[in-house]
Amino acid sequence: RIVYLDGQYLKEDEAKVSIFDRGFLFGDAVYEVTAVINGKLVDNEGHMIRLQRSCNELQIALPVPLAEITNIQKELIKKNALNEGGIYLQISRGSAGDRDFGYPADVKPTLVLFTQARELLNSPKATKGMKVITTEDIRWKRRDIKTVGLLAPCMAKQAAIEKQVDDAWLIEDGYITEGSSNNAYIVTQDGVLVTRPLSNDILHGITRKALLELAEKEAIKIEERLFTAEEAYQAAEAFVSSATTFVWPVVEIDGHTIGDGKPGNVAKKLREIYIELATKTAE
Ligand code: PLP
Repeated sequence: RIVYLDGQYLKEDEAKVSIFDRGFLFGDAVYEVTAVINGKLVDNEGHMIRLQRSCNELQIALPVPLAEITNIQKELIKKNALNEGGIYLQISRGSAGDRDFGYPADVKPTLVLFTQARELLNSPKATKGMKVITTEDIRWKRRDIKTVGLLAPCMAKQAAIEKQVDDAWLIEDGYITEGSSNNAYIVTQDGVLVTRPLSNDILHGITRKALLELAEKEAIKIEERLFTAEEAYQAAEAFVSSATTFVWPVVEIDGHTIGDGKPGNVAKKLREIYIELATKTAE
């Protein structure tokens, strides 16, 4: 695989970052993952806008303009002949050659990109649905900033793996925040699509935004409000969204079967129309 590091396209084992890089020492870095279908970027503008916002919140200067980052994404897709999967990009504050907490002046951010080949359209999770557990949300209070400080979600995901399920939904003060790396939704028995409103408690998913717009066009009733695990157990449907899953139905939560245990119609419909739109608008 060819990767990108600070202006250079390199073989993956030739790309090296300093041990003093603040991404490594402090998790002082932000990232984005954009889906690739047919060698094209899906909903990438939204990802670029969120990247800019994450950088602004942390006073990290963009190492190159957003338009240039997109050129690099496209070049890397070409160099790796990536047809379907994701492209990961990370900007860390960089290295000041030592370890000090305060933001160093005159530091050059580190820009890294790599591709990941994955089957997105024909994922078995999409047809069979996933099982999740719920677990305490122990993350920090700025989940709206997409930083690489991901140890809490790694722990949640590992807990799920050890319970032989697919993922974890996180709970704070009795309410679901989101999945370990996705936004969480339920559909009530009355057909209302429920998902947590935007705040610092969750990542403002790019796929979430697109799905809510599509749901509105489909005249699906939407309530952006808090919901508990108990409400989710009783729901007609549940599902998650993210850049590389699009929509994956959830068919079991904490051992409770959701609906009839098969992917629900709202989830299936939203997945279908999101993929249709994503394929059409990818660039
Ligand atoms: N929530 C969390 C915690 C995530 O890590 C992600 C994606 O990585 C999402 C939600 C979904 O966001 P997006 O649709 O922009 O990929």
